[in-house]
Amino acid sequence: MSHIVVIGAGMGGMSAAARLQALGHKVVVIEQSAQYGGKLARYSKDGFVFDLGPSLFTIPSVYRDLFDRTGKPLDDAIEITAPERAFRYQFADKTSVVLPAADPGLIAVAFGKAFGSNASSEWLQIIKKGALAWQLTRTPILESPITGLSDLLKLAKRPKDIFLIKPWQSLRKLGKRNITDPRLQNILDRYATYTGSDPRKAPAALVTIPYVEQVFGAWHITGGITKLADVVYQRCVDLGVEFKFNTEILAINTDLDRVSSVTTNSEEIATEIVVANCDASLLYGKLLQHKTAKLQLKKLKRTTPSLAGFILLLAVSGKTPGIAHHNIWFPADYDAEFDDIFGKSPKPVSDPAIYACVPDDPQMRPEENTESWYILVNAPRHDQKMNWGDQSLKNSYAELIIQKLADRGVNLQGRIKWQQVLTPADLEARYAAPGGSIYGSSSNGAASAFLRPSNIGPVTGLYLVGGSSHPGGGLPLVGLSARIVAQLIGKAKK
Ligand SMILES: Cc1cc2nc3c(=O)[nH]c(=O)nc-3n(C[C@H](O)[C@H](O)[C@H](O)COP(=O)(O)OP(=O)(O)OC[C@H]3O[C@@H](n4cnc5c(N)ncnc54)[C@H](O)[C@@H]3O)c2cc1C
Repeated sequence: MSHIVVIGAGMGGMSAAARLQALGHKVVVIEQSAQYGGKLARYSKDGFVFDLGPSLFTIPSVYRDLFDRTGKPLDDAIEITAPERAFRYQFADKTSVVLPAADPGLIAVAFGKAFGSNASSEWLQIIKKGALAWQLTRTPILESPITGLSDLLKLAKRPKDIFLIKPWQSLRKLGKRNITDPRLQNILDRYATYTGSDPRKAPAALVTIPYVEQVFGAWHITGGITKLADVVYQRCVDLGVEFKFNTEILAINTDLDRVSSVTTNSEEIATEIVVANCDASLLYGKLLQHKTAKLQLKKLKRTTPSLAGFILLLAVSGKTPGIAHHNIWFPADYDAEFDDIFGKSPKPVSDPAIYACVPDDPQMRPEENTESWYILVNAPRHDQKMNWGDQSLKNSYAELIIQKLADRGVNLQGRIKWQQVLTPADLEARYAAPGGSIYGSSSNGAASAFLRPSNIGPVTGLYLVGGSSHPGGGLPLVGLSARIVAQLIGKAKK
């Protein structure tokens, strides 16, 4: 029986561990922190419960498949629900639109009412392109290991569809060419940030994201999305996966181009197979002891790292009229946000798009007349150019966001019982995520998908899983990467 070491108890690491253990392997997951789940984490105090990372759950079928293949169904363990008022977008001119959790037809009608009848048909055309892009990329790209640009050939089988979507053009261009109303263009642009990217540079192929969100649905999990981490961890434990917390992997050792062992802060563990769920830049920059690591790192440096996030948790008394589950307030100049984040001198966005998740979920608040506000603002990474470790910046930026919300019509002053702030520096420290980046590398650039580290490492026995490797970040893709890796490793030899 082979013995597999998984580095990191994020959703990618745990999903791979469960699948591999079910395939007959003996798996040990080694996690540097005291907690499983990685970026899928929660914060709770005084009955207020917050998801710290993912607040939107899409393509639950990826995790349903994981549960079906490893034991009892996912829906026996958690309750997946569709919020009634799922999204509310508000624009600089104070107009707004509220959308349901799914159904492009209904959503197009809502856009038509808010932005004029053209918006309805234009949005349906966008969704049609999303459907094509999804069909085109799902099996050959998203569900398969890819190793380089040669995999583009897999797409060449359907040249007509490729020319319909023109995936090499930017998402921004797609919006400008097909959507008249600038507010609806803002909505399409925002999907680039779901991969930590700039819509002016991210490929139009990302049109799959609104398609997937609106066709397969935008879901909540009763009690918080982090319940998914709880049940995946429990599934691993039930299957017999071993976990070692507070244990950091310091090195992956090799012998004749094969993985031979890992060194932790307390021991050396012999193993022939390592599944790395840590950030790929750490894997190739620090952990892998092999000459090929340098080359992999060089390739990775050709990508733009994902943007990071500034998080504000607010324990709020009273109810906010008109609030939805996911709320987005756009600024007057959305491009300025991407200039501030991805420009030569990155700085906190002075007038950011503000996202707030305010779940109408009794399990996430102490009493009926209260609200748990999770606010997320896109931010530049924590690095030499931008120091998020500065406490006064942390406090003043949190104040600025609360003030901006008041300017946009939601005055929470006087209702905030307490608040907690997490900067990109805090995210880096919690999750060993360089710069506090949300998704590893961004999708900036037409070839970004092909520069993303492959699931197959450069030495025999090394595999990559999770948001910084193929097919990318976000819960569904991370779950798909675990499926790819389990398929690559296959059943244990008897
Ligand atoms: C603020 C925020 C909002 C998000 N919103 C959404 C959303 O709404 N919807 C969505 O689908 N996704 C969202 N995401 C993205 C999603 O959370 C991630 O893509 C996903 O959880 C990443 O899982 P992962 O397994 O790749 O890695 P991670 O969660 O990063 O886990 C990696 C684990 O490896 C451990 N580790 C690292 N190095 C070592 C080492 N040397 N030794 C031992 N352990 C190590 C880390 O401690 C960590 O636990 C969001 C992320 C953030 C941060």
